[in-house]
Amino acid sequence: MSKVPRIAVVGSANVDLTTFSDRFPRPGETIFGQKFDLGFGGKGANQAVAARLCGADVVMVAKLGNDLFGEATVKNFKSLGIDTTHVRIVDGVSSGVAPIFVEPNGQNRIIVVKGANDTLKPADVDAAADALRGVDTIVLQFEIPMETIAYTVQFARKNKIQCIVNPAPAQPVDARQLDDASYFIPNETEAEVITGLAVQSIDDAKQCAAALLQKGFRKVILTLGSRGALLASPEGSELIAPFAVTPVDTTGAGDAFIGSFAVFLGAGLPEKEAITRANLYAGMSTTKVGTQKSFPVGAEFAAEWAKRGGKS
Ligand code: ADP
Repeated sequence: MSKVPRIAVVGSANVDLTTFSDRFPRPGETIFGQKFDLGFGGKGANQAVAARLCGADVVMVAKLGNDLFGEATVKNFKSLGIDTTHVRIVDGVSSGVAPIFVEPNGQNRIIVVKGANDTLKPADVDAAADALRGVDTIVLQFEIPMETIAYTVQFARKNKIQCIVNPAPAQPVDARQLDDASYFIPNETEAEVITGLAVQSIDDAKQCAAALLQKGFRKVILTLGSRGALLASPEGSELIAPFAVTPVDTTGAGDAFIGSFAVFLGAGLPEKEAITRANLYAGMSTTKVGTQKSFPVGAEFAAEWAKRGGKS
């Protein structure tokens, strides 16, 4: 990449607290667990980290609680070289957390507490306006208030900045609030929730993407797991093939795809090539356990891209 892309993520940061035990406790019961893991998460933070590891300059706009998790999250961003000028610590509310309980068979129970993520408001976008005006691409997800997402899409439109909306986790949307985004990138579940159309075959995916375009979205990329990604625009749709990998944990594949796609697009690559590269980056992330921990660094990606016959 000749140019260093500048990416902003206006989004969530959570801490995942994962406890592994033989079984779940019954009501009122206390049991010993076998293992505990603390990991940085939240879709916004994950995408910011993927973008940074792919070599972009990244600005994060987020809110955290005045607690151990808030402090640790800022430290994690800083250690990766992510600009935290617009990451604010707020009093009176916890950081976003996700206590996760896992049984030996892999069955899990998750409670997400949005905490400070819910206090990220349009005024915070205004406060970061100067920094946001300097970026190539703004990336948004659905773990912050919808009014902030809609406001940021309009900010991007007015300032002629590319904008990616990733409607995750799945929830119904008012398309009119978001259809000025340059790219709308759901996975199959999210697309189903928004359109009411089940996505099983590639033909279903094409129809679902067409329904999203009908709602007013300019361009849609439907991520399809091991089947790659479908790019759809009013000119037509095209399936962009995935790379063959041996997945061990697909958690965070979507975040790897979005964060890396923003970078490849911001670098000025043609959109199909940006999607192809994002397919490889996300595919590579499935070959390791964890979310942020599974994201390859730029050099690892570049080596794999060359090995798989991609041009530099
Ligand atoms: P999410 O993690 O949001 O469910 P997907 O499952 O659609 O998202 O995965 C996002 C992207 O990750 C896919 O478009 C593809 O590029 C890549 N990917 C995911 N699973 C695989 C797989 N088994 N083989 C190759 N690529 C994969």
